[in-house]
This record gives sequence, structure tokens and C-alpha cells, in this order.
Amino acid sequence: MDLSLTEEQLAFRDLARDFLEREAVPHRMQWDHDESVDLAIVPKMAQLGFFGLTIPEEYGGVGGDYVTYSLAMEELGRADSALRGIVSVSSGLVGKSILFHGSEEQKQEWLPQLANATKLGCFGLTEPGTGSDAGNLTSRAVADPSTGSGRAADWVINGQKLFITNGTWADVALVFARTSDDGPRGVTAFLVPTDSPGFEAREIKGKLGLRGQATAELFLHDVRVPDAARLGEVGKGFKIAMSTLDKGRLAVASGCVGIVQGCLEASVAYATQRQQFGKPIASFQLVQDLIADISVDADAARLLAWRCADLIDRGEPYGIAASKAKLFASEAAVRAANNAIQVHGGAGYVDDFPVAKYLRDARVMTLYEGTSQIQKLLIGRDETGISAFV
Ligand SMILES: Cc1cc2nc3c(=O)[nH]c(=O)nc-3n(C[C@H](O)[C@H](O)[C@H](O)COP(=O)(O)OP(=O)(O)OC[C@H]3O[C@@H](n4cnc5c(N)ncnc54)[C@H](O)[C@@H]3O)c2cc1C
Repeated sequence: MDLSLTEEQLAFRDLARDFLEREAVPHRMQWDHDESVDLAIVPKMAQLGFFGLTIPEEYGGVGGDYVTYSLAMEELGRADSALRGIVSVSSGLVGKSILFHGSEEQKQEWLPQLANATKLGCFGLTEPGTGSDAGNLTSRAVADPSTGSGRAADWVINGQKLFITNGTWADVALVFARTSDDGPRGVTAFLVPTDSPGFEAREIKGKLGLRGQATAELFLHDVRVPDAARLGEVGKGFKIAMSTLDKGRLAVASGCVGIVQGCLEASVAYATQRQQFGKPIASFQLVQDLIADISVDADAARLLAWRCADLIDRGEPYGIAASKAKLFASEAAVRAANNAIQVHGGAGYVDDFPVAKYLRDARVMTLYEGTSQIQKLLIGRDETGISAFV
């Protein structure tokens, strides 16, 4: 389905697919087993432009529109969602926060390095006690009045973050911490170099899916950063997090489209060669029923993702479109992977085919960057004008 894509967009998609077929698909099961992708792929992905997409050329990126970004995320999701997450957290959540809310110095310092992936970023919002209720986070940043005269007070940050993608690999952590007791309005964002004294990242092993990707707990004990590390105004951190997550949801939705597409291709390939009762199983109507459902999910999820990308490209409001795309595509990815395993029978339950991994990787997509329930609350509030959050 190539609805009104430009030649440039199609060319990038084809380049991305060729690259991932060579560099990722043959290794993804091993990476999954090892609980780490081979990080040697990161600079290669950067060279192709994955990390620089939608970051302007003046900041070392490759520019490009959000439809192209969506296509890139789809290809990454089709190949290996662990890779998609590395890119969309580092140059997406962290890079976009800096691009849209950072000072000129912060943009000059961090964006070229995130765009060429010589540095990776992580996004530290979730805490053990606050996931969906992120506005009530408890990590704290306090201005130190003893900072030398002639410059703004340093900030001293204490707290803990949970489930942080890229946490043990990142060079910079975007940390959201409380600077006053004013609920979501008391949260401020900081760019914290991960080699700062008092900063520790511990990897969380044994995940159901996304096993090739580092997920970590972060501990900040009296981590000192200059005021120049503050991203945006004091008290605007929660707004920054929420606006960045809207674009993040496009990346998750597009990655899920890739999962659904991968499930479709795997199911068609298997069903047309696997023989039972003397015929390919694709000739049975009930098997076609499963494949038809996956096919419709692929188209519907892709169109919702593209609609959101197109709204961003045209400068239109896109938050609710992002929620709808993320909600539908993530639920569709779980459904499609489940259907694809059904098409494969027992063979789908082991790692000889990609569908078991697709299901394990898909499962988190309805949880992170706002659960399906949270997306429904956002959509419901938009439709009714009534907030059901509290
Ligand atoms: C692999 C992985 C990677 C992640 N990466 C990152 C990252 O890079 N950075 C980061 O900051 N976070 C990250 N997260 C955290 C993720 O965003 C949270 O897990 C998610 O926001 C849900 O929070 P929670 O786990 O605390 O669940 P909870 O908020 O405790 O939710 C539990 C259940 O209650 C429901 N619920 C909660 N509140 C409501 C409500 N008001 N109405 C109805 N239902 C409700 C939820 O929908 C869910 O079903 C990651 C998580 C995972 C698993």
C-alpha cells in the first residue's frame, strides 16, 4: 500500500529494508537470545540516516519529513523492535525534546552527536511509584545556594527511575525531577551526562520481549548538574515530556505496523508452502480468515500512523491522532502476532520462525509510552470534554 508516497520516501524505505534484511534480520534471534543487539550495528544505522531523520541538517541531522520517519520506524519494527526502540528513544524522545525545548547551546552540543549516534540518549520519566501517573513523580532536584557567585545555582538531583530504555548504554539521560510540590507543574527536565558522579544504571534482565534492547533502573544520588543542563523552564518538564511522547507514539505505532506487516509476510509464506490434508493450508478458508484479519490490521494501522505523520508535517494538531494510531496499532500488533502463530501451528511456538518473537516484542507496545487505557482516556476526554483521569 503506497498511497501517495513520494519517490524520496519510497527510496528511503527500500534502502532501509535492504539494509535491515542484511544487517539485522539474520542476527535478530541471536541478539534476542543474548539479551543484547550487537552494538556495532548502531553506527551503521546512523550512517544510513535512521538517527538523523527529522533532525534538521543545521544540527547534524538528515532532515526529512515525518512520513519518512514513520516508514523508517515501520521497517525497524518489521526487522527487530529492539532496534526501533534504540533509535526512537535516543534521537526521538531525547533528540526531539532538545530540538523543541532546548537552548541553542544544548542543541549545538547534543543534537549532532545523537543524530550520528556517537552518543545515545535515554528518557527518564517512569519511577517505581509512578508510571501512568507520571505527573506525580518524586525524584527531586534542588538548587544549591552554595554554587559559586556569578553563575546560576547548580541543581542536585536525587531519585530513582524504572524501565528506562537504553539506560545502561546512554551517554546522556533526560531526567524529569520535581523542583516544587505543585504536581505536574512542579516537574523540571535536566540533561544529565551518565558519567556524572552519583549516577548509576543497572540493567533489568529477563524481559518477555525487546530482549535485544537494554532496559535499566537508574539511581541518582546527589547528582550535580549546572543550571545550563536544565532543559526548558523550571516547572515545564511535565509539559515537555507529554509533548515529546505524542511524537513518540507515532514511532511506536509505526513500529507496530512493521510487526503486523512482518506477521503478514511470514504467515503468507508459511501457509502457501505448508501442506496438510494434501493441500497448502492457505487453501483452507479458516486459515485465510486469520490472514485476512492480519492484512486488514496492517492497512488500518498504517493509515492511522500515516495520518498522524501527515498532520505533523502539515503543522496541524496531532496529539489525538497519535493516541489513536498508537492504541490501534499496538493492539493490532498483539492480535496479528497471535494470529500469525495460529497460522504457523506448533512451528509458530518456537524460534525457527519470527512470529513468536513478534508476539513477545509486541506485548509491551500496549504498555509503554502510555498504556492502551491511558490512550482511551485521552481520546475519551477529547470526544466528551470530560477528563476521566482522576
Ligand atoms: C520494556 C519497557 C521499556 C520502557 N521504556 C521506558 C523509557 O525509556 N522511559 C520511561 O520513562 N519509561 C519507560 N517504560 C515505562 C512505561 O512507560 C510504563 O511501564 C508505563 O507508562 C505504565 O506504567 P506502569 O508500568 O507503572 O503501570 P501502571 O501505571 O501501574 O498501570 C498498571 C495498569 O493500571 C492501568 N491504569 C493506571 N492508571 C489508570 C487510570 N487512571 N485509568 C485506567 N487504568 C489505569 C494501566 O493502564 C495498566 O493497565 C518502559 C517500560 C517497559 C516495560
